[in-house]
Amino acid sequence: MEKKVTNIGVLTSGGDSPGMNAAVRAVVRTGLFHGLRVYGIMRGYAGMIDDDIKEMDGRSVANIIQRGGTILKTARSKDFMEFEGRQKAFANLQKRNIDGLVIIGGDGSFRGAQTFSNEFDIPCIGLPGTIDKDISGSDTTIGFDTAVNTAVQAIDKIRDTMDAHDRLFIVEVMGRDAGYIALHSGIATGAENILIPETKTDMAGMIESLTEKEKRKKLVNLIVVAEGDEFGGAAEVAKYVKEKLPTADVRVCVLGHIQRGGSPTCEDRLVASHMGYYAVESLIMGRKNMMVGVINNKIHYTPLDKAVKEKQKIGQEWMKIVKILAS
Ligand code: ADP
Repeated sequence: MEKKVTNIGVLTSGGDSPGMNAAVRAVVRTGLFHGLRVYGIMRGYAGMIDDDIKEMDGRSVANIIQRGGTILKTARSKDFMEFEGRQKAFANLQKRNIDGLVIIGGDGSFRGAQTFSNEFDIPCIGLPGTIDKDISGSDTTIGFDTAVNTAVQAIDKIRDTMDAHDRLFIVEVMGRDAGYIALHSGIATGAENILIPETKTDMAGMIESLTEKEKRKKLVNLIVVAEGDEFGGAAEVAKYVKEKLPTADVRVCVLGHIQRGGSPTCEDRLVASHMGYYAVESLIMGRKNMMVGVINNKIHYTPLDKAVKEKQKIGQEWMKIVKILAS
């Protein structure tokens, strides 16, 4: 098989997610295995522009598979949105003869990679590193499983206290435009209502069912809301519920950034290792501008522009199941 790349760069960009380190480790060690030089680019596209780039060896990624965050750091870069910034970044890659890139990030990072690759003809392979699972072409994304499990553990704790006090709790989880964290954590914690951006939120219907439950003396109720739900986050939902159900003891908890941190789950480490390995393999095979995903446990390639344009669809059946199970 013809080897098309000799020096590759790896970076983590945009929002961080647990498992990014496992992906970096896999990219570095697979690259070294194939005799490539591997460069770690610090702080995403910002480090590429600032020439904050260092050569990695096998030891440089030792003892990181279990760590959250990213040893390469991550950032958002306004300068990379401009052609001059990208030109500077490319010049820094050229200095080291870097002829292939692995970008671990979300949809914004993939958009940047696509533009960069079109302008400077450098092959880019994207790995979906995002807790939100808001990318198509993969059953999961690096960090999603950890984030959901963190949310489940936190909500289980909230459930203990809400049960002790007969309270109605509204828990806000992350998800600006994707409701997967809310859906999975809500189902797994037995939420009575799950509010997500992908489905129309029926507030009147929710109040009706809460009123009916109140009549049956079912006072412990859990509502999980994605931060990007079209009605609003937990604060807006709580305000509405208090107006309509003044007797309910309503409390709010916003889980926030704890969902991004922590040691990645086994699932996220596996997914990151699998994808990281295939990122390098695909650069060697001459693939460009593709995202490496996993569908039914098999590696699946999706063009970067398609991965960011299409969202995964949430099965309507789940919303029906939630209603039945929470009665
Ligand atoms: P994420 O990758 O987590 O979605 P962002 O949306 O913040 O995070 O994107 C990360 C970075 O990607 C941005 O700070 C910017 O530097 C770069 N980027 C995003 N969109 C574009 C674009 N259309 N053109 C060039 N660069 C972009």
